[in-house]
Amino acid sequence: MTREHKLKDITEDAKAFRKRLKALIGFRAAFVTLLLGSSFIFKAGYDRFQHPHAFSYLIAALYILTFVYSILIERIKQLYIFAYTQLILDVVFGITLIYITGGIESWFSFMLVLIVISSSIVIDKRAGYIIATLSSFFYGILINLQFHGLLSLNSGKIMEVKDYLYNIFIHIVSFYLVAYLSGYLSSRLERTVKKLDEKATDLRELEFFNKEVIESLPSGLFTTDISGKLLTFNKAAEKIIGCERDSVIGRRIDEVLPYFKFPFVQCRREEVIKTNGVKKVIGFQITPLKDINGNNKGFIGIFQDLTDLKRYEAEIKRKEKLAAIGELSSNIAHEIRNPLASLKGSIEMLKDGTIPPDNRKRLMEIALKEMECLNRIITDFLTYSKPSQPEIRRFELHSILDETTELLKNVEQNKGNISIKKKYAGRLEIDADPQKLRQVFWNLGINAIEAMPKGGELVVSTKNTDDTIEIIFQDSGAGIAKQDMERVFYPFFTTKESGTGLGLSIAYRIIEEHSGKINVESNPGVGTTFEVILPKTDGKT
Ligand code: ADP
Ligand code: MG
Repeated sequence: MTREHKLKDITEDAKAFRKRLKALIGFRAAFVTLLLGSSFIFKAGYDRFQHPHAFSYLIAALYILTFVYSILIERIKQLYIFAYTQLILDVVFGITLIYITGGIESWFSFMLVLIVISSSIVIDKRAGYIIATLSSFFYGILINLQFHGLLSLNSGKIMEVKDYLYNIFIHIVSFYLVAYLSGYLSSRLERTVKKLDEKATDLRELEFFNKEVIESLPSGLFTTDISGKLLTFNKAAEKIIGCERDSVIGRRIDEVLPYFKFPFVQCRREEVIKTNGVKKVIGFQITPLKDINGNNKGFIGIFQDLTDLKRYEAEIKRKEKLAAIGELSSNIAHEIRNPLASLKGSIEMLKDGTIPPDNRKRLMEIALKEMECLNRIITDFLTYSKPSQPEIRRFELHSILDETTELLKNVEQNKGNISIKKKYAGRLEIDADPQKLRQVFWNLGINAIEAMPKGGELVVSTKNTDDTIEIIFQDSGAGIAKQDMERVFYPFFTTKESGTGLGLSIAYRIIEEHSGKINVESNPGVGTTFEVILPKTDGKT
């Protein structure tokens, strides 16, 4: 417990104690009025009293005291001393009353019992015992004095020693018994009250904690009841939406914040809102609010301001795009510059008239070859950069693969030391653009051949699954280095002396146009597998 809490508890205790003291004063006043007053009016046994006037004095004194107590109660700081003083005085008054009403014969000995009960209720168990002891002591003395005839009390009855002793014994036992019982009850009551108080404090603290958490959340948070009426609206929500919570709480959400449509659609969404003339992108999610029994109690909405994030994202995308364009352009320039340089060299030499006719012819051939090379680069690049709609038709896939493998057997890169194997899965009708697929298979095949300059094996296989057709080119060539795996599909990425780096990028583009996928796996020194996965379209395009 903190110091503050302790201080608070102390003042709370003092308040409760003062209240009990007030009740005691009130009770005493009522008692004096009702009991003593009535016996004064009815003069019951009045004539028998030793000191008839003393009775009136006693009542007057008690009234005066009550008056003094009532004034002091609000001013006095030492409440315990005040309480003990009152109770001890009560005992003194009680004994006096018993004395003037006949000592052992008095009806008023029960008053002492009442005082004992009051002390355990008003102060505590210990006070009950103290007052019981005090009462026993004074009562014992009084009765003793009476027995020895030291008091001017003329008893109507003849009493023996044992009557006196028994009377004292009965009284003392009852004082302590009452002190014990009332002390037990009041301490139990006190414990229960304390426990209840603690529970209430815990609840208060929990509530406070919850409120603080919700208020300190960086995300906007609102809750509504089942009809969409707003119940909570935290600080971040005020800031993001740009409105005061007092102006929205208690109203239906779609009335005040139209972008939260009610009834809610439960999913993550983004919405562009306009607050105080500023456009904001907010991302929000709404989920049902349930009680412990799982019943729907309302809804809870959490939202964030994504404006900055979106702007940042767009900026990064733009930067990435610019960087890619820059790299592509420099790659194109690089690819074109080489053939252009040799073209320029050949033509410059041709300009010089002294070149013998034989060399002239060779130079012209070189120039023509470079032009062809340039043309091929440009054509390939256009295939890559200007994708055209595929012309889909139904055909048998293996016939096209066969054409490709036939051609691969006779290319100049194939020195005759490469075996080409086919593992086909039956007949496979496919809906695709045959011309484009032919290009894909050629590009994959030629790469495989080029990866095995010292010979090896190329396996071309097909697979027919429930919803895809797969074509696999597996070679036992050099493989692809790990750091290049990501880049093999980039345009102009090549590791070959005379490569353009466009083959795989074109293949990738074509497969993408067919809504398919192309995967690669490679083990440097062991081989590479390219896998083309095409979705089955069931004759639909
Ligand atoms: P190019 O063949 O003109 O180099 P590609 O786009 O066809 O361009 O291929 C890019 C790069 O990917 C090649 O230079 C090569 O490094 C690597 N590559 C492609 N296929 C294979 C393969 N089957 N085995 C090993 N490396 C390959
Ligand atoms: Mg290639």
